[in-house]
Amino acid sequence: MNFTYFIPTKILFGSGSFNALAKEELPGTKALVVITAGKSMRANGYLDRLLSMLDAKGIGHVVFDKILPNPVLKHVHEGAELARANGCDFVIGLGGGSSIDTAKSIAVMVKNPGNYWDYIFGGSGGRKPLSEPVLPIVAIATTAGTGTEADPWTVITKEDTNEKIGFGCNQTFPALSVVDPELMLTIPPHLTAYQGFDALFHAIEGFIAKIATPLSDAYALKSIELLTRWLPVAVRDGSNLEAREQVAIASTLAGMVESTSSCTSEHGMEHALSAYYPALPHGAGLIMLSESYFTFFADKCPELFSKLAQTMGVDVAALPEQDRPMAFVGALMDLQASCGVRNLKMSDFGIKAEDMPLCAENARQTMGGLFRLDRYRLSPEETEAIMRNAYK
Ligand SMILES: [Zn+2]
Repeated sequence: MNFTYFIPTKILFGSGSFNALAKEELPGTKALVVITAGKSMRANGYLDRLLSMLDAKGIGHVVFDKILPNPVLKHVHEGAELARANGCDFVIGLGGGSSIDTAKSIAVMVKNPGNYWDYIFGGSGGRKPLSEPVLPIVAIATTAGTGTEADPWTVITKEDTNEKIGFGCNQTFPALSVVDPELMLTIPPHLTAYQGFDALFHAIEGFIAKIATPLSDAYALKSIELLTRWLPVAVRDGSNLEAREQVAIASTLAGMVESTSSCTSEHGMEHALSAYYPALPHGAGLIMLSESYFTFFADKCPELFSKLAQTMGVDVAALPEQDRPMAFVGALMDLQASCGVRNLKMSDFGIKAEDMPLCAENARQTMGGLFRLDRYRLSPEETEAIMRNAYK
């Protein structure tokens, strides 16, 4: 049971914590503020609030507002260039995973030479070590799902080669993160569900990954318990602040699972789907893979699945032992039904059945690292079969 614990992020959590940022010392004097190309950060007034706060602290700022839902490589380089041209010495990601992840990747590239892909481990990445420091990162989360506020990971897509690959190192943990559930009250129900399930899968995969420890298990099981109880409430009534709070802490805990354990090959398979279909929300892709994926793994680690079923409220003691692992898959499907996402279909997102072999191959090429952390080593044929079975 040897492990290293390293999460060097100061997290301001809870309702009103966005305002509390005003009293924090920030890690620089001029910020590149990274937001998406969508309207919500301006329409909800979050960007104005942040910029006024920075003004009051005498901190300069430049806004980079081009980020796509599945963020792309060219925006990492464009953002890094903008930061260099304006002398920014730290980066703030305001929004969901796409803004915060891009902020992290930009922070990597402001001082490091060459192309961001030179430093990527996986696919066509150059696997080079960073030679220069990463700028400090501040993460202000306005969604509950990615956990990026509590982990070092950033996921960027290289469009010309359809590769969606994660990157992270000790320096890409945010120095400071804000998780304020009041900023999440306006997220529509379907996105609340997609994002919440993303968090749930971080916790579940982190629990069944080969490198799980008692510490990551504690975070994971608490996260799963909270999401089972509170995600349907937050989906039904987005204005319920208590539900938003519980889902937000579950997401941050799941981020800490990603920092202390790892996702598994389910995430690898999803990255392939959204690399080819950038309009596919990450959480929706995971939901659509999940029944096939976890059914395959149920007899590979039955005790862990039984524990997951119990954590999701199944009375496992009342079941014959051989039925307990699949009771977890049943509970997962029930939770999807109560969040209105039980019948998502890949075909509704334009995905074609004949793409499955290509996506399975892509997943193994780009995110092979996650396949090595499964408790059972999937063959190429099994990977493809899981994806084919998930297709509707
Ligand atoms: Zn994820």
